[in-house]
Formats: sequence, C-alpha cells, structure tokens
Amino acid sequence: MKSVIVKQKEDGNILATTDNPAPEMGPEDLLVKVHHAAVNRTDILNKKGKVNYAVNPILGVEAAGTVVDANGSRSFSEGDRVMGLVNGGGYAEYAVMPADRAMPIPQSLSFAEAAAIPEVFLTAYQTLFWIAELKYQETVLIHAGASGVGTAAIQLAKQLRDAQVIVTAGSEEKLQFCRELGADVLINYKEQSFADAVQEATNAQGVDVILDFVGARYWDKNLASIKEGGRWVLIGVLGGSELSSADLMPLMSKYVQLTGTLLTPRSDAYKAELSKEFTRVVTNELERGSIRPVIDRIFPIDEANEAHEYMETNSNIGKIILEVIS
Ligand code: NAP
Repeated sequence: MKSVIVKQKEDGNILATTDNPAPEMGPEDLLVKVHHAAVNRTDILNKKGKVNYAVNPILGVEAAGTVVDANGSRSFSEGDRVMGLVNGGGYAEYAVMPADRAMPIPQSLSFAEAAAIPEVFLTAYQTLFWIAELKYQETVLIHAGASGVGTAAIQLAKQLRDAQVIVTAGSEEKLQFCRELGADVLINYKEQSFADAVQEATNAQGVDVILDFVGARYWDKNLASIKEGGRWVLIGVLGGSELSSADLMPLMSKYVQLTGTLLTPRSDAYKAELSKEFTRVVTNELERGSIRPVIDRIFPIDEANEAHEYMETNSNIGKIILEVIS
C-alpha cells in the first residue's frame, strides 16, 4: 500500500511516499481503508526527530475511512465509516485503528471533514473539560485561536459551556474567523499586549482558564492574565520550552493550577475513554452543524511535504487535510 515515511537527509528530513505491506491488526483493531488523513504539528516534530516517545515509521496520528475488516468487533462492521486516532500510520492507504476508540462519522460529514476532527477536537475536549474542568459561563483565553486546536476549542467552550471566549491570533482575518466560530473577545497579539487586553475585557479579574500553545514566550503575560484560582493548561511550546528566568511567586499567590498534557503518548485506554465520551457528548452537535470541523486546505497525499511546509508558514485557519482517495 502507498504510505508516507520519513527519509533522513543531512540538510533536514523529508517525507517520502513508499510501498509498504498493509499493517497487521492486533486482536482489538479494525482495518480501515483510509480516505483522508490530517497533518498535525506532532507529525512535523516526528519528521524532525524531535519526539521522545516511540513512533510508527509511517506518519499520521488520525484518519477517516471505511472499515474493511471489522475483526469480529461487536461495535463495527465492514463498510462502516469511522474516524479516530491511530498509533501512527495515518498517512497511508490502510491503517489499523483500535476498535474501542473508533468513532462513527456523523452522517452529515464527508470523510475529509471527519479527518479534521479526532486529534484537535479530542485535544481541545480533554484540555478544556477533563483537565481545566471549564465550568458553565467561565472565561477562557484560547491562544492561537485560528489553529486546528483553537478552532475546535472555541466551539466546544461556547457550545458546551456557554463560556466567555477570548482568543489571540496573529491576523485580522484569523480573528474574524474566530468571531464566526463564537469567540467574544478578539486580540491581535502582534498589535497589542494580550495581557492588557485581557485585563480590559475581564474588568481586571483575569480569566478562569488558559489554553496555552505558546509556552515560554507567553509566561509573564499568561501569569498576568489568569484569575486567582485559575487553571492554565500547557499543550504546546510554539514560543519556546525554556524559561531563562521565572518568578514562581505569582503562581502561589494567585493559587494557579498549571498543568501540561500531550495526547499522542497517552495510553490506549485513555484515548478510548476520551473518544467514547466525545462521541457521546458531541455527535449531535456535529450532526446539526452547531459544532463543525474547519478545513483550510486539502493536499493529495503525494504532496505531504508541501502540506507540512504550508503548516510551518502559520497560514492555515483550521486543519490541513491529506487526501488518500479522491
Ligand atoms: P496549527 O493549526 O498549525 O496552528 C498553529 C498556529 O499557532 C499558527 O498558525 C500561528 O497562528 C500560531 N503560532 C505559531 N507560532 C507561534 C508563536 N511563536 N507564538 C504565537 N503563536 C504562534 O496548530 P495545531 O495543529 O492546532 O496545534 C496547535 C498547538 O497545539 C501546537 O503547538 C501543537 O503542537 C499543540 N498540540 C498539542 C497537543 C497535545 O496533546 N498537547 C495535541 C495537538 C496539538 P497565528 O498566526 O495566530 O500566530
């Protein structure tokens, strides 16, 4: 089958399309004919050899397609449309997907739309609701609001908790898109200090929850933006992972809970539980379109390198999809 692997090169690794045997199923797996996969930052880190957990040689942590071997599953049959997280191997014609984390694709969605869901929506869901425990009508600051995870988080926070959603992004176009998804307060971090804007928007109270993709570069401003007793979840380090100096006093004096999480290296059981709860809670919203996957561009799988390069330009609003079957 056609699949995309990393080819090591001295001047920087690239992706290469190769012919591999179809993956072998474990006893609890489905074999899925992949229609669409999607690009994630973790794939780019993987390509660059920057992840410190075991990875599948075939890239891709999510896929949407048709079950071609249900392997005796009581929940799925051959021909069912499924989407979900895979343990690598999404950028390929066939992928194995543990049956207990496969999610039925809502009827109203295409395969491409479905491929835009698992990684970013499950990340946003677990971060907002399991880790930060966002409550009804609380205030949440979502950085990189137009990113894949950001566009998912805005909708989940708004639709499921009626939260006051404050977003940061780097352009007016991105901010206006966030508004369409339900964001209440828009901050262009390139034009103003987001910490000042948050103070203004919250009557100097700060926010209950911060979804932080940026890390080191935003440390001081995040501390200034969080409310007493606030929950701050670090899920990315786009602005660096090392602090040259940090004053820990405000963390204590504001009773802040600072947590970090990564979805990809989480256990199979964790991913299964998360996928099941997401399916139970969000499927109806996806069916009626009150929550929707956001696609920026679709690349043929043979152009996976171009898709990665495009993500690294920070131009996308929502997801970048790879088309395996047109
Ligand atoms: P994405 O769609 O590629 O969007 C990322 C956006 O972040 C960029 O378009 C850019 O938008 C902004 N950005 C980039 N560098 C920045 C910087 N130095 N400072 C401020 N903003 C910056 O990304 P994604 O796939 O949604 O992922 C978003 C983040 O979540 C990544 O860090 C990713 O690694 C992380 N993530 C974590 C988990 C987890 O389990 N912890 C899971 C999935 C993703 P602007 O134009 O607005 O700057």
